[in-house]
Amino acid sequence: MPDARRHALVIGAGLAGAAVTSALARRGWRVTLLDAAGGPAQGASGLPVGMLSPHITRAPTPLSRLSQLGVTHTLAELQRLVPQGSGWQVCEVDNLGHDPGRWPAALVRPAALVEAWLQEAQGLGALTPRWNTTVHHLRRTASDDSPGELHWQALDAGGQCVAEAPVVVVAAALGSLALLTGHDGPLSPEALPLNPVKGQLSLGAREGPALADRPQRNEGVFVPHYQDEGLPPNWPRAIWAMGSTFERGVNNTLVTGDAHERNARSLQSIAPAAAARLRNTLEQARLLGWAQVRCASLDRLPLVGAAPRLEALHAGAPAGGARRQRVAMADVPRWPGLHLLCAMGSRGITLAAWCADQLALQIDGEVTLAEPVLLAHLDPARFVVKAVRRQAAARTRSQPGG
Ligand SMILES: Cc1cc2nc3c(=O)[nH]c(=O)nc-3n(C[C@H](O)[C@H](O)[C@H](O)COP(=O)(O)OP(=O)(O)OC[C@H]3O[C@@H](n4cnc5c(N)ncnc54)[C@H](O)[C@@H]3O)c2cc1C
Repeated sequence: MPDARRHALVIGAGLAGAAVTSALARRGWRVTLLDAAGGPAQGASGLPVGMLSPHITRAPTPLSRLSQLGVTHTLAELQRLVPQGSGWQVCEVDNLGHDPGRWPAALVRPAALVEAWLQEAQGLGALTPRWNTTVHHLRRTASDDSPGELHWQALDAGGQCVAEAPVVVVAAALGSLALLTGHDGPLSPEALPLNPVKGQLSLGAREGPALADRPQRNEGVFVPHYQDEGLPPNWPRAIWAMGSTFERGVNNTLVTGDAHERNARSLQSIAPAAAARLRNTLEQARLLGWAQVRCASLDRLPLVGAAPRLEALHAGAPAGGARRQRVAMADVPRWPGLHLLCAMGSRGITLAAWCADQLALQIDGEVTLAEPVLLAHLDPARFVVKAVRRQAAARTRSQPGG
């Protein structure tokens, strides 16, 4: 008889949702995976080819430490689940601009890893996928299945409950915003500062010799050669690619000539012959493009952990500016069973697996060996804490003698 308490809804079937589905399934959880699309990896994780590589900085930053852990972890997951050559391949990348040097890396088609994670969960008998299911909002209410217990219900646009469980992980990238902040949602928009950043990749058939020995990174990454049977059926099996553009605040997936030209300009500084080929291929109407929207947080770090419960924070806050200014992350009340795994930005390949494993540990109430300071940088309550401190500081300043 399965333990009804170890059942989670995961909303979103991209890298983040599939990674946490796999992590929970391996820990013995049952997962109902809900996605608005007709199958897995249809959002940003549908990227034809991306780079798994560390974020190199002269002095360590939260992102550089996180990406170092993430590269090792994702590489282990790829080696465990996906045959090399069928969705990924190891390589090196030349950094040409900032922090020049050659670094170990891998080229990855994220859908291959997403599908492998879901197949694993399915093989464990842990997964119920629900495609074409847009979750409009969440409601915490008495359970239909377990009288006396509170569950999270996922509701569709008509207010019908499509699934319920004691635990929910929102891994819906930018879709998390409307889901959690609209319609009396559990969070306010200030607590969830997520922004769209559109990106476009320009690519073509790899014919003749590759125009570089390995991927080159400056403003964007030039991939001189990538081969994969899993690329879209109407595309060539062997491609070159240049990307990607960063269009902050843009939330559509149209492939544009303007973005191709921006990629050509970035490629000019990396490999002028490859830039000429990109422009020729565009003129001959043979250039392929792929565009999607990344989800980025205000500080560009992912959100990993339990969702803050704002009204409880305000209700429980002691009166007096000075005391409220000292509010710490641990003081923030949380919604029982409501967790976030989103804002992977332009690094989901590197970050999703490690972040998902950390979240699964948290959900199971287990101790993690990860640095507490690093986890605090990912805590979804960080924006609320900063806002409360800012408000308290402003109040103190406005008081006589403040
Ligand atoms: C052009 C481009 C190039 C990139 N290059 C790289 C790279 O080189 N390296 C790298 O690491 N990363 C790269 N990225 C980023 C990477 O693709 C993302 O970080 C990653 O795919 C995000 O995964 P996700 O699961 O958070 O989001 P997504 O893959 O977008 O998944 C979110 C899912 O949630 C579903 N959803 C949304 N709202 C709802 C709802 N209300 N109800 C139900 N389902 C919902 C969507 O249908 C979608 O399937 C690139 C991104 C782009 C666009």
